[in-house]
Amino acid sequence: SAGVSVKEFAELIGQRPADVVRKLMEMGQMVTFNQSINLEAASLIAEEYGAKVEVSTEKAGEALLEEAAQSSGEEHAVPRPPVVTIMGHVDHGKTSLLDAIRQTKVAEGEAGGITQHIGAYMVGVRDKQVTFLDTPGHEAFTAMRARGAKATDIVILVVAADDGVMPQTVEAIHHAKAAGVPLIVAINKVDKPGANVDRVKNALTEHGLVAESWGGDTIMVEVSAKQRTGLDNLLEMILLQAEVLELKADPERMAKGLVIEAKLDRGRGPIATVLVQSGTLHVGDAFVVGNFSGRVRALVTDTGKKTVEAGPSVPVEVIGLPGVPSAGDVFTIVKDERVAREIAQERAMKQRAADLAGPAKVSLDDLFAKI
Ligand code: GDP
Ligand code: MG
Repeated sequence: SAGVSVKEFAELIGQRPADVVRKLMEMGQMVTFNQSINLEAASLIAEEYGAKVEVSTEKAGEALLEEAAQSSGEEHAVPRPPVVTIMGHVDHGKTSLLDAIRQTKVAEGEAGGITQHIGAYMVGVRDKQVTFLDTPGHEAFTAMRARGAKATDIVILVVAADDGVMPQTVEAIHHAKAAGVPLIVAINKVDKPGANVDRVKNALTEHGLVAESWGGDTIMVEVSAKQRTGLDNLLEMILLQAEVLELKADPERMAKGLVIEAKLDRGRGPIATVLVQSGTLHVGDAFVVGNFSGRVRALVTDTGKKTVEAGPSVPVEVIGLPGVPSAGDVFTIVKDERVAREIAQERAMKQRAADLAGPAKVSLDDLFAKI
């Protein structure tokens, strides 16, 4: 179905269907009682009759999204790669660890050398794949969580063995707990003279993380990003944890994903790195993201290659956006560009209304302080 019919709309605004049809004809639209009314026309007509249409049109549009999500269901769910985010205190070695994992793996098998940086990438571990998200800032993580968007399946908490548990270590623990995401501790820099693994484990117990070797249930792995030791063990633990989670998604439905990062590229225009969470994203698909809508013009993989599609847990650069969305925005495929445009317009309208109503009562900081 495609939203609200002319008849339903007329009832909503307390007018006769025939009058609405006449108005539509005046606007150059030939529509019968049972055909759906275009949202733009609906709001114009409602305005003319002095009715408030924002809420009802919004429902119609968002209802379409819901309907699309439900109608395709999850009946063809198949296993998907885990999405892993690396967090931890500054300078504890998050970037080094990611680089080490990537270099080891890329150097081991794949041709083409070092991957292009798109903020997210996939690594092959034996016959499995793991998707790593390159440390989204704590702010992006908070924003995603505040919107109910869960970007990651597993958090790797990096703690430097020489520096120990620090404020951002604790913050990351809170984030993972609040999001209900399992956490694996990577005790890094074990090669350093000042390294003290037991001291780290001890400090972590104060935050509810007790190592398995100490009778608890938190997986802790000792690594050195610099000397590339312990990496295989860490990857092994990630795969084990992923198996427990039984992660699945339906690759056959219309794609839905999350914007991990977005930027304006001088040559290619606005580009968003989208993590596909369900369905398969194709070149040519009509999408809505935030207040923007459009059609996917091109998809670029984490290795910089063009592709025609991307399935669940796959990060891709999407080209063809009319503007730069925000990290944490939901990227949704809809059945055609017209529907995409209408939903985007409703959202823009809603946002303008919210902006006029003044600042939000609760800031993200407030939300976070309560956790
Ligand atoms: P991030 O801020 O958490 O991303 O930390 P970086 O990856 O940028 O690392 C901070 C510093 O620690 C850099 O100078 C790295 O070379 C160093 N470093 C990272 N991992 C190790 C390690 O395993 N051993 C040693 N000795 N130094 C490391
Ligand atoms: Mg870093």
